[in-house]
Parts: sequence; structure tokens; C-alpha cells
Amino acid sequence: MALTAEEQVYIEQLYDDLIKSAKRLKTEEDIAFVRKAFELANKAHSKMRRKSGEPYIIHPIAVAKIVASEIGLGRKSIASALLHDVVEDTDYTVADIERMFGPKIASIVEGLTKISTILDQDASKQIENFRKMLMTMSEDIRVIMIKLADRLHNMRTLDSMPEYKQIKIASETSNVYAPLAERLGLYAIKTELEDLSMKFTNPTAYNEITKKFHETEEERNKYIKDFIKPLKKIMDDNGIECKIKGRLKSVYSIWHKMQKQNIPFEDVYDLFAIRIIFNHPDDMTDDKARETCYRIMSLITNVYEYHPGRIRDWVKKPKPNGYEALHITVMGPQGKWVEIQIRSRKMDDIAEKGIASHWKYKTGEKGNNPGLNSLIENMKETLSNTEGSFDFLDDFKLDIFTKEIHIFTPKGEIVDIPKGSTVIDFAYDIHTDVGNHAIAAKVNHKMAPLSQVLYSGDQVEILTSKKQMPKIEWLNFAMSAKAKAQIKKALKADKSADIDKGKRMFEKKQKELNISFDFKDMRKMREKLEVGSDDDIFFMLGSGQLKENDFSELMTLIDSQKTNKDGFFSKFWKLGIGDSDNKNEKISHKNTFVINDDEKRFSLATCCNPIPGDEVVGYITLNNTVIVHKKDCPELKTLAATHGEKIVAIEWESYKGKSYEVQIDIEGVDHLGLVYNITKLISQEANVNSNMLHFETHGEIFTGKINLFVQNKFNLDDLIRKILEVDGVIKVSRCE
Ligand code: MN
Repeated sequence: MALTAEEQVYIEQLYDDLIKSAKRLKTEEDIAFVRKAFELANKAHSKMRRKSGEPYIIHPIAVAKIVASEIGLGRKSIASALLHDVVEDTDYTVADIERMFGPKIASIVEGLTKISTILDQDASKQIENFRKMLMTMSEDIRVIMIKLADRLHNMRTLDSMPEYKQIKIASETSNVYAPLAERLGLYAIKTELEDLSMKFTNPTAYNEITKKFHETEEERNKYIKDFIKPLKKIMDDNGIECKIKGRLKSVYSIWHKMQKQNIPFEDVYDLFAIRIIFNHPDDMTDDKARETCYRIMSLITNVYEYHPGRIRDWVKKPKPNGYEALHITVMGPQGKWVEIQIRSRKMDDIAEKGIASHWKYKTGEKGNNPGLNSLIENMKETLSNTEGSFDFLDDFKLDIFTKEIHIFTPKGEIVDIPKGSTVIDFAYDIHTDVGNHAIAAKVNHKMAPLSQVLYSGDQVEILTSKKQMPKIEWLNFAMSAKAKAQIKKALKADKSADIDKGKRMFEKKQKELNISFDFKDMRKMREKLEVGSDDDIFFMLGSGQLKENDFSELMTLIDSQKTNKDGFFSKFWKLGIGDSDNKNEKISHKNTFVINDDEKRFSLATCCNPIPGDEVVGYITLNNTVIVHKKDCPELKTLAATHGEKIVAIEWESYKGKSYEVQIDIEGVDHLGLVYNITKLISQEANVNSNMLHFETHGEIFTGKINLFVQNKFNLDDLIRKILEVDGVIKVSRCE
């Protein structure tokens, strides 16, 4: 529903409000930039409404306002906040954003979109992992801050959501977002998130405590007034300019205390804290401010007794998120313990809005690390230039300097693997068997090859097949020592078994054919097969690359050369290998090589597995046979580049009586009967056979691999077409 004129006016008012509250927007240019973002967001969301019925754009404006006034961020963050739902909910893409607002805004908006997709998955059980993920996936802390603002506004307006959603969103908020806000030092937001969350997850207790707060308000205010009076006097007498006020603790923190100590509301002694916030003029150094904290503490102890076990010195040792303050607990009137928090105005601001609003990069201190520098560059740009030297980045350094990345399993568990690792490394890290049988992976629910490089925060599921064996190419992209060692081991074990098998076959053949091979014969054999060692011969034989019959023929041939001076071919063909007369003619690359049922001087390349009907060309070998490759086979391209004169055109006239093995991949949406329908289809095809089916489902998605024996490409294409018609199948492709 389009916006009414009234709504349009209201939206402009909200926008003006946002601009007024954004103290960091200083120049005309800043304002124009934010306006541009607002206009795009307004246009993109113009037909959308929130659950409450109000125009959708009200939400991004509110989020931007939180970002500007409650977190204190600058124009890029404000613009990104305005745009934060554009990519997720409308037709605009990250590329559009980049074109209009540059790469930085685009990457922030992309990060925000990515976080929401991850949050839609059920990962709330793995809170710590989850927070870790949020931390590591964002190169820019602003992404998380804007996300927090987004969540805060959603929590403030959660009333309009259906109840089951309220509960889910509220628990996620207290489990994930509130701790995250705390870690970033955004205490005001953390507290509000906790309270709002409790309001929905535990309304009874929430209402009870709120009611009691209210009932005791008058009495409490009087107590606070009496308590503050002598403090104010001693501060004035000593020339310390400060504000002293009582602050009610949050509903959530009171409730938490009641639970933890198992006490009723009435027994919670610290319903409030006193906060002393002293002036921090521009010429006051941070050290001076810290000193002042201690001075104030000592003045307080002239008035009230303090509890020696309850001093919290966040001045000497600030929290990793930048929080600085001195907390002491003193004995007030009526024998009540009262907590006093001592802070400078700047410390207070940081505690409320987070360090980002005050952060400043000090040149020289840690200017040497490129990773840290780029982070600093990102932040420096938008962060204010007011004084400050807090080591806010301490916590983040870990993630920047780390050589490890955090990968999530489908169940949400974390696996730490070295930076630069690929899918195959991860597979071997899980288990050797998983590695050995890995065929592909789903990275963030998208199909990905074993060679894909992984990044922190990726969720990876390895797809396996019992038929799969480690491949020598894997060594090209396996990074970890573990994966490499296991692949080599498996290849070796695999090879030596085949070598043994080949050796036995060879011995048997010698007896069968009554031939005895000496080392010279073996050398000839190696030359014919173009391999370097006898083991290579046995391996070819044992692994089935070299057919037993062909091997027998070759042995007979070599043996015949020992006695028959006629040479190689006469005996070869006499043995009936090429039984038609013209077949010992030299194959010329000038003539098209025709494959028909009589033609036997060819073999099919194992690199690209062509089948009749594919676009093919041939490569003429030294012993006058042709190896048939697909035209687009990379191996063929290499051969053609160096031995162009050996490439021959091929016409595949007909070639019956043989089936060819191909593998197809299927992807689709899982539903009952799908696998059955596919297998039924295959079994009904007269010209097709299958020896391996492998199906896996992942939530709604299923993937399958099928080994097929077909007579030609037409059989295969026909079958692929039919499988595509099966309800639920999305994609069918022939494996290369
Ligand atoms: Mn949003």
C-alpha cells in the first residue's frame, strides 16, 4: 500500500529528527550523503509495511537514530543503518549500493544482510560460538553495532509480533545480542535489551518488579536525596565539579540477583547505585581523570564507611571493552549498603555509548601491523577526534592476528582450522574417513568444490560418497599438513594394492600365455605404455586402466618381436587384433577417423570420459591408435598445443554393443517419493544401467550422485530430461 500524504509528512519529520540528533554530521556534504541514503531506502521500501501496519521506512530511520544518538557513530554508519534492510528485503543488490555509495557502505550493508541470514538459522544454542562468529565475520565493528541498533528497535516494537515470535526473538536477544552489546561496552543498550527481553520472556516477574519499583519510588528518592547531600558538600568544598545522582538498577539485574541469591525483592539491598560524574574538561588528561577518581573515593570515605571487599577498580585495569570507573560500596543511613560509581564525564559517555563514540587512533603506538591498521583506518574515518587512548581493540586483536579461522559444522559446533584452509582440509580435520570420501561440500548452504577456500564464520557440510577415493589433484589445494599426509597415505595404500594386484595378474598371464618376460621385454612394455617403471605397468593393470585383454595382446606382441623379425605390427595384426584388412594402415590426421562397429584402433580418454554423441576429436598415438577426447577436454588442449599434427577429426558413425560409464549430479528439494521416482525412472530406461546411487538430504535440499552406463549421449540427454521433469528436481548435470 502506497504512503498517504500524512504518512509522508510524518516520515519527513522523523528524518529531520534523525538529522538533528546526529551530532557527528557536521558538513553539508555529510547531510547530503545521509539524505541520499534515506531517499534510496524510502524509495526501496515505499510499498512495504511493518507488522504493525506502519510504513516500513520508519524502522530504518529509527535504527539510524539509535546509531547516531545512542551509539554516537558518524555518517557512513547512519547511511548504512538507513540502508540496512534494502538488500535483504527489496530488489536492490549490494552492487547497486556500491555504485551509489561506494565500497565501504556496500560492505557494511552486505555484512548486515549476511548476519540476518545466519540468524535465521537455529543456532541460538551455541551462544558463545555464535558471538565468536559475529565477531570474526565482520571486518568492521560497525556492522555489529548497526545490527545491535536494528535489534534494539525491533525489541522496542516487539508488541506487534505474534507471541511465538516474541519469545524466540526475545530469548535470542538476551542470549546473543545483550552479551554482544556488553562486550562492545554499549551498556545502555545492553541493559535495555535485557529488560525488553525479560518483558516478553518473563512478563510476570517483569511486571512484579516494575510495580515494586514504583511503589518504593517515593521512599527511595528521599533516601537518595539524604544520602547525596553530604557527598555534594564535600565535593564542592574540595572544588570538584560533579553531578551526583541515584540510578535505579535495571529490572533484569534485580531479577537476576533475586534468582541468584534466592531472595525476595525486599531483600535486594542495591536497587539503585549512586553515580558521581565529574567534569572532564578538554585540557584534563586521562591520567588526571583517573587520579581524580581516587581522590573522590578518598573524599567519600571521609563521609561514609566503605566495604573493603567491594571495591571494583576499573580505572587501574579497564575492562577489555573500554569500561573505566571506580566502584565502591559504602554504609549509608539506616544501615544500608550503597554502591557508588565514580566516573569522569567521558568515562560515563563511553560506558553508555561504547568506546566507538570516543575512540581515537594514536599515531605511532601500534602503527606497524597492516591488519590492525586497516581496521583502524576503517574506524578512524568515522570515529570522533575527541581525546582518548583506550585500548578498545584488545579483544579484537585476537581475531585479527589469529592464524586460525572458525568454521561451523552443520550442527553449529566450531572447528578451528588454519587460515587459508580449503574444504578438503576441513573434511580431513573432521575425520580421515570423511576426507577420504569427500565429494563436495555445502558452504553456507551452497554447493562448493573441495578446493574452495574457507573463511571464518563459514558453515560447512561435507558431502561424501563411499565410492570416492582420494585424488592426486587434491594435493594441489590441500593446505594443512594433516590433509596432505592423509591424502598421500591413502594414495600410496591405494596404489600399492593395485600394484600388487597387477603384479599377480602379470605372473598369471605369463603362465597362461606361456611367455616369460625378461628385463628387456619389460623395457619395451614400458616404452609402449609410455610409463617410467614396472610398478607403473602393474598399477595400470591392477587399477583397470589397462584392460586385461589389451595387456595380453601387448605381451604377445612383445614376445613375438623376440622371434619374429617382421616387427611389431605384422604379428600384432596377425593375432587378430585388427581383423579387417585395411586396419593396419597408418592413421593419418588428414582424414577423418571414423568410429564404427568394425573400428577397434581407438580408446576413450579417461580424463574426460567421452561417450558416443559427444563432440570429440582424436589424438593419434605412436602405436597407430587413436585416443578419443572431448573437444573441450583440458588435457586434449595441452596435447593439441604441443602435438597439433597428431590431432585427428572423428566421426562417430555408430558404435554399439558397449555401454559407457558417466556420472550425473542431481540437486533438488526433498520430498517424499523423490528418490523413488528417480530410481524408478532409471530402471525403466532400456538403454541405461546404474551401479551406484548416492543421495543425501540437508534440510530441504537433497543432492544425489548416480553412476550410469549409457550407450550414447542421446540416451543420457534423454534421461537427464526425464529426471528434470520429476517433481522437486531442480538441477541435473553430467559430471566432468
Ligand atoms: Mn531491520
